Parts: sequence; C-alpha cells; structure tokens
Amino acid sequence: MASQIIAIEEHFTSPALRDAVAPRPGPIQTMLDDMAGRRIKDMDEGGIDIAVLSENNPAAHNLPPDKSVALAKASNDFLHEQIKANPTRFKGFAALPLPDPNAAADELERCVTKLGMLGAMVMGTTQGNFIDDKKYWPVFERATKLDVPVYIHPSPVKPAVAEAFFKDHAAPLSGAPLGFGLETLTHTFRLITSGVFDQYPTLKIIVGHLGEAAPYTLWRTEHNLEKLMKMPKSFSDYYKTHFWLTTSGAFSNSALACAMTEMGVERIMFAVDWPYINNALGTKWLKAAPISEKDRELIFAGNARKLLKM
Ligand code: MN
Repeated sequence: MASQIIAIEEHFTSPALRDAVAPRPGPIQTMLDDMAGRRIKDMDEGGIDIAVLSENNPAAHNLPPDKSVALAKASNDFLHEQIKANPTRFKGFAALPLPDPNAAADELERCVTKLGMLGAMVMGTTQGNFIDDKKYWPVFERATKLDVPVYIHPSPVKPAVAEAFFKDHAAPLSGAPLGFGLETLTHTFRLITSGVFDQYPTLKIIVGHLGEAAPYTLWRTEHNLEKLMKMPKSFSDYYKTHFWLTTSGAFSNSALACAMTEMGVERIMFAVDWPYINNALGTKWLKAAPISEKDRELIFAGNARKLLKM
C-alpha cells in the first residue's frame, strides 16, 4: 500500500477573499473556512498525509487590479501562516492577481522564493479572458524561470456560453457536471494553439479531472487540427510534454487507464478537490484501482514529490 498520500487540489477560502468575493451559501463555505478542524479530520479519515492547498474559485481573478493584487497577497500570506501552523500536513499553491499580469508574475516569485509555495493555481478565466492571451504571458515567463508548475483550474463558462448551451435546458449541466470541464479543456487546448509552449519550452501545466477528457480526444483533435494549422510540434507532443494531470473529482478506472495510456503514469497525480468531493471516496478508489503497486505509489505521492520538489 502507498507509503504516503499527497492530494494537490484541495481548497480553502482566506478571510480577505471571502469577504471580497462573498461567501458560498451552505456548509461548503464552513468547510472552506476551516483550516484545522474538519479539514484535518477529513484528511485523517481519508488517509491523506499532505494537502497542497489552493484558494477557492474565483480567488482574485475577477476583482479590479489594485484590489486583486492586495487580496491575492493577503490570501497567500494567510496560506503561508496556515502552512507554518501545520507544516507536515499542508503545502500550497499561490493565488495570482491576474487582472494585473506583471504583479501576478511578481507575486508568483514572492510566493515561491519567500513563502515556499510549490507553484500557482489559475482559477479558469480572468474577467472572462483565457490565459493564453499574451497579456498574461509574464506569468508563464516567471513560472518557467522559477521552474514551478501552473495548475489550470475550472471556472464557470462565460455567460454567453452558458446562455447558448444551457439556458433552454432544465437540467443543471453548466457547472461541475459538464460546463467546468468544457471550460478547462478549452483553456488547455487554447494554450497549445497559442504558441506559448514554443516561447516557453519548459513550461509545466497541471490540469485536474484526469485532463477534462483530453487524453480521450487527443488523437481526434490532432488529426483534424493538423489539416487546418501548422505548428512546430504535433498537438499531442505539446500535450504530453507540458501537461500533468490529477485525479481531482474523477475517480474512474477506465478514465485513469486512458490517461495512463496516453500520458504515461509519471504524468498522473492524486487529488480530491476537497471540500466538493469526499477524501475517502478518492483514496478508497485509487487504493483499489487495477494498477500495479509501483504505479499506485507514483500517483499517490511519487509524481507530486518530483514535480513539486517536495
Ligand atoms: Mn477544485
């Protein structure tokens, strides 16, 4: 059995951002706010040794630039204090004030070099913009220089997409059941076609939910895209070179098999997506998944330790 379990998409809300972004209704916000009680209890019950924590969506992405800079710093300082209080259980990804891209790059550097953070988490679009927009590339330049990964997390689909795809439909498909995955899959594929990986050939991106169906669709996307545009490398080359995937909220043996086949086991890391998903649901699943003990160990901890330099 795995000697250590590290989960890397586990959320919290800092007091500063909760007040600015407004609390979520219901018990989820209580869990996001709780840094030591329920969080640690759930980690213990699920057998999770270390949680790499990240600010809850939308973090500081949709605020005016000056407010975003101040509150992302406050969030990261708060997270740093929480990690110091529980250094054996918590690590962290930085929240970035992307409405001010140069400040976001500087904040990433401060968090990595001064606060010991392991990378950054980008919460989907920023004020409706995808991060492949060149104005955000200072963040990728800095992540490359620091050699830390950027985790691309879902955000809700843009209002125009929600209207076109879901407005006339009674079922709630626009969030986690479908919309979040569409948003993040689009985000990751846009990064490849934007050319950002030609500019930053060692840039490392993490995506949750076993790649939001990317491993399943890589062949088709590549086959059809290469008829329409020329890139220096093949589409799947970019994906397999620059992307790491996590299991957050996607506990399916057949999806895991597809991800491992396309990407190689060394590109898959364990994550739960607490508090939206139950810790024990994730650990029980992976402990029983039909893979070798060596692969299980890599997914539970070894790959994260290597990529995040833990
Ligand atoms: Mn999440």
